[in-house]
Amino acid sequence: MIVDEIFDLFARFGARHYGEELSLERHMLQSAALARALGAPDVVVVAALLHDIGYFLHLDSANSIQEGRNIGHEALGAAWLSQAFGPDVTAPVALHVEAKRYLCAVEPGYFDKLSEASRLSLATQGGIMTADEAAAFARNPALDAALLLRRCDDRGKDVSIETPPLEDYRLMLIAALR
Ligand code: FE
Repeated sequence: MIVDEIFDLFARFGARHYGEELSLERHMLQSAALARALGAPDVVVVAALLHDIGYFLHLDSANSIQEGRNIGHEALGAAWLSQAFGPDVTAPVALHVEAKRYLCAVEPGYFDKLSEASRLSLATQGGIMTADEAAAFARNPALDAALLLRRCDDRGKDVSIETPPLEDYRLMLIAALR
């Protein structure tokens, strides 16, 4: 069952880092906790929890991050999750990098608040959106969920914060299955 596979992926690869000071598992748990604190729907909390799972699926992700190569972890993760979750979960995951490119274009000061790793990866992810790209992105039906996830992603990088463990999300994950 996919929920067991998700737990297994976290156990095997959650300790990985991706250029930030905290592990991917802690980052993803913080993102989910922030989404929950903001009153996000459960499917968006689940999306926040799983948004970087693409890094667990790519054998070479640790090296690629170090070398500044873009593995498209958002598309990889969304495609894998789509075997069991609907677009309410997979779309915000798929769009969380585009959401960064979008917010850089439309929100003054957003770029400056990004972590160094996030600013560095932006270039390999297509850079700041053009006005036309941003206008098109603003019409995406998953815009709000993608932006909410992105803001939790950006804030979920605090080494001083401890969060509830992954186990706390088991029932929410099962309920979010298609
Ligand atoms: Fe992230």
